[in-house]
Amino acid sequence: MTGKTVDGYSWEQTTGVVSGLETDAVVRPPQSPSIRDKVYDAVVIGAGYAGLAAARDLALSGRSVLLLEARDRIGGRTYTVNKDAGFLYEMGGTWVTHHMGYLFREMVRYGMDRDLITTGSPDMHKGYYTMDVPGAKPRKLSHEEAGAMQAKAWDIFVNVDGQYGRTLCPLPHAQLNNVIVGRKTVEKWDQLSCQDRFEQIQHLLTAEEQGLLVSLLLHISGGDMKNSSLWDMIRSHALLMHSSDNFTDVWLRYKLRSGQTELAKRMFEDARARGADYSFSTPVKSILQGKTKDDLVTVTALSGQTFRARRVVSTIPLNVLKDIRFFPPLSKKRQEAINIGHVNQMTKIHADVTNPELERWNGMRFPGLLMYGYGDGRLPNGRVHLVAFGADERETFVPEKNPELVVESFNKLHPMDIKRLIFHNWSTDPYSQGGPAWWQPGYMSKYQDELQSRHGNVFFASADWAHGWRAAIDGALEQGSLSAQSIDHELAPGRSTAVESKL
Ligand SMILES: Cc1cc2nc3c(=O)[nH]c(=O)nc-3n(C[C@H](O)[C@H](O)[C@H](O)COP(=O)(O)OP(=O)(O)OC[C@H]3O[C@@H](n4cnc5c(N)ncnc54)[C@H](O)[C@@H]3O)c2cc1C
Repeated sequence: MTGKTVDGYSWEQTTGVVSGLETDAVVRPPQSPSIRDKVYDAVVIGAGYAGLAAARDLALSGRSVLLLEARDRIGGRTYTVNKDAGFLYEMGGTWVTHHMGYLFREMVRYGMDRDLITTGSPDMHKGYYTMDVPGAKPRKLSHEEAGAMQAKAWDIFVNVDGQYGRTLCPLPHAQLNNVIVGRKTVEKWDQLSCQDRFEQIQHLLTAEEQGLLVSLLLHISGGDMKNSSLWDMIRSHALLMHSSDNFTDVWLRYKLRSGQTELAKRMFEDARARGADYSFSTPVKSILQGKTKDDLVTVTALSGQTFRARRVVSTIPLNVLKDIRFFPPLSKKRQEAINIGHVNQMTKIHADVTNPELERWNGMRFPGLLMYGYGDGRLPNGRVHLVAFGADERETFVPEKNPELVVESFNKLHPMDIKRLIFHNWSTDPYSQGGPAWWQPGYMSKYQDELQSRHGNVFFASADWAHGWRAAIDGALEQGSLSAQSIDHELAPGRSTAVESKL
C-alpha cells in the first residue's frame, strides 16, 4: 500500500508547493519489533542500494544485522512516486540495463530483468527535437540529426588517445591498477577538467555541437566545466564499451516497469525475512570504536539511542560524511577527501503538461536553469509526462522556494501548459547533499583508494566511490556486496577475526 514520505515536493497552481510524496518506499512501522539492545554482527547505516545489498547479503549469510536509516523510507537516492496509482515517477536513479553486472544480478534474482519499459514513447521518430545554443539560431530538428550531432561531439571529446580511451581505461572496474596502463599515466590524465579537454577540441565543432556537448557534459556531471573531471567521462565511456553506439542503450533507455522502489522493496523484504532488524527515521550522528580489532563499534543516533556491533557498514553519502563524528578520527587523507566532497548538484524535475505534441519531444537549451527536457510517456488522465534536468544552479535556483521559476525554465525549453510539478531537491536534502557523485580533476587518483578502505571495524560502501559504475545504482550494489563479503569472511566461525587495523 502506498504511504507518504516526508521527502520531495509537488506543485500545482491551486495548492502551491506541498512537501511529501506518495511512495511504496515508506516502511511502517519504522522499527522492527525484534530490535533490542544486543550486539549485532553488523550495523548497516543507510537503506539505499548499497545498504540494502549489504544488509540482505549479511542476513542471507546468517549474520545478525541492524539496518539504520535517517529517512522514513528505503531507496536513498532512488525512489518511485506513485501519485495517481498507475503512473510512476522516478525521483532519482532511474535507468537500468543488462550491462551492469551487479544490477543485472539483482534484477534476475527478483524476476525483474525482463519486465522493462523504454524511455519516451513509441514512434519517437514522429516527434522532434528543439535546440537553442549560443552562436546558432534556435531550431527544430529530427531526433536522428540531434543524436548524430551529439555522438560526433562526444566521440571527439572522449577520444583522448585515438582509441576512445581503450589505452587509458581498458578495465573501468580497475582504473588505477590494471595490466595495461600504469598508475602514473592515469594520474596524469586525471588532472584534466572537462574545460581543459573542451578547449583542446572546441575548434573541431560547430556552435551547435559545442552547445550540445557542453550541456551534455554538465547534465552528466551536475557541476561546472572546470570542476568536473575529464577522467570520469573517460571512465564512463569505457563502461559503454568505448563506443557512443552504446550510449543510449546502456545509459538512458530502459526503466523497471514496476519502478526502482519495487526492486529496493524486494531486497529489503528479503533481508527482513532472514531476520534483519531495522530502524527508520533514525539519523546517525557518531560512530565510535575502540583501538583493538575485538572492540565493538558503537553507533549513536541523533536521538541519543546507541547500537553496538562487531562491524559497521557506513553507506552515508560522500557529501554527508562531514556531518558524522568518528572516534578515533578518520585518517587525514579521508577527512580531506570528505571535506572536498563531490560536485554533482543536478536538478531533476517532472512536469505533467497538457500539450500532446510534447509526447515525442526532446529539447535542450544552453545555458539554462533546465538544460534538457524529455517527453516520457502519457499519464492515465491523458496528460504528457516530461522530465527535465539542470546542472549546479544552487545560488539562483531552489525549485521548492520558487516554483514559478521552474515553470518559466520549462517554458524556455519549449512553450507548454504545466499542470503539476513533482521533484526532489537532492542538494538541499541533508541526507544526500548532492546528486550522483561526480569528482573533481585529480580526485580519483588521489582519494579513491582511501575512500574505499576500511577504518578499523568500520567499512565504507557507497556508489560515490565504487570501482566501476560510480554514481550509479550498480556502483551502490557493488559496494554493498563487497563490504558484506569482507565482513562475512572475517567473522566466519573458525576463521581468524584478525583485522589489519589502520587505527
Ligand atoms: C537525480 C538522480 C538521477 C540518477 N539517475 C541514475 C540512473 O538513471 N541510473 C543509475 O544507475 N543511477 C542513477 N543515479 C545514481 C544512483 O541513484 C545513486 O548513485 C545510488 O542510488 C546511490 O546509492 P547509495 O546506496 O550509495 O547511496 P544512497 O542511495 O544515497 O543511500 C544512502 C542512505 O544513507 C542514508 N543516510 C544519510 N545520512 C545518514 C545518517 N546520518 N544516518 C542514517 N542514514 C543516513 C540516506 O538517507 C540514504 O538512504 C541518479 C541519482 C540521482 C540523484
